[in-house]
Amino acid sequence: MIPFLDLKKINEPYETAFQEKLKEVLENGWYILGKEVEIFEKVFAEYCQKKYCIGVGNGFDALVLIFKGYIKLRKLKKGDEVIVPANTYIASILAILQADLVPVLVEPRLETYNINTDLIEEKITSKTKAILAVHLYGQLCEMDKINEIAGKHNLIVVEDCAQSHGAINNQQLIINNLKLTQAFSFYPGKNLGCLGDGGAITTNDSELAKVLFSLRNYGSEKKYHNEYIGVNSRLDELQAGFLNLKLPNLDSDNEKRKEIAKRYLSEIKNEKIILPSWDLSENHVFHLFVIRTKNREKLQNYLAQNNIQTVIHYPIPPHKQKAFLEWNNLSFPITEKIHNEVLSLPCNPVLAKTEIDFIIEILNQY
Ligand SMILES: *Cc1c(COP(=O)(O)O)cnc(C)c1O
Repeated sequence: MIPFLDLKKINEPYETAFQEKLKEVLENGWYILGKEVEIFEKVFAEYCQKKYCIGVGNGFDALVLIFKGYIKLRKLKKGDEVIVPANTYIASILAILQADLVPVLVEPRLETYNINTDLIEEKITSKTKAILAVHLYGQLCEMDKINEIAGKHNLIVVEDCAQSHGAINNQQLIINNLKLTQAFSFYPGKNLGCLGDGGAITTNDSELAKVLFSLRNYGSEKKYHNEYIGVNSRLDELQAGFLNLKLPNLDSDNEKRKEIAKRYLSEIKNEKIILPSWDLSENHVFHLFVIRTKNREKLQNYLAQNNIQTVIHYPIPPHKQKAFLEWNNLSFPITEKIHNEVLSLPCNPVLAKTEIDFIIEILNQY
């Protein structure tokens, strides 16, 4: 069986280093917000070309804390509307709700699976105060367009980078926009994953960073002095230690993903399969390689019979989930089409050339 994602194999090369790191942390006897977190925050901020990185408990908390941070700074308030793509992973929407804000769903583009920027402005009301740009499957949204809309309507832009570690937007280096903050997840299956839960926020906004360093730690910067009503959401010291070992290989791992994607895009030739669109720039890190097909179950079964494991990201759109009964009657045809037709092929740094050859061959015979 070619597994969709073999996490054990992904982490195998680090086994000795991980064990040494554990020993180091044990010997230090300092387990929360220690030197590993400090190093990670410094190095990851540099990697992202941002002034600040705040390590937090997971990707969901990263999003929630960004919104809560803006609320503390009175740049957002309870009930404000946040534009979000209708086909995102549920966490993006739950994070908006968790911060007492109101998600407003916008259809994606069928070709890129990312928010359709032509449809954003018609959803903007006097209550709209932010856009949550989700770089789904590893491909950056049209950030220049989103920043332009945000500038025009004075909106905050939060980026959900949980699937896009290392993707580069040439524009971003120029913009240096203080109204732009990023949330990352280091859940084990992400492009940069630890051995448990982990997350981070990056920003150039020193005012926001100061609030976030405090909010993640009970709203306290100085021990037992609480400035804000905060939470406990700290990046774990040991996980930060593991991430420090893995971060130097993120770019080369992403290159391997992109090489596989390039092969799939040029070598899969089957009328029944619609390949994802990509302009071959640095804006995509292929967290997932997502194809579309009319009879998905048939294709998935066929691949399984040929020992190729695939996964559906995601089978049910957020507005059709039981959790959102009040949205169940809404209609988002593009989103629904995507959720009915998508299938993710194995695409990760530990896939062997023979496995890639085989996947392409089997798909072309379908
Ligand atoms: C994984 C993910 C999250 C949440 O990250 P966790 O670390 O699991 O909380 C948020 N948004 C997107 C798009 C994700 O893929």
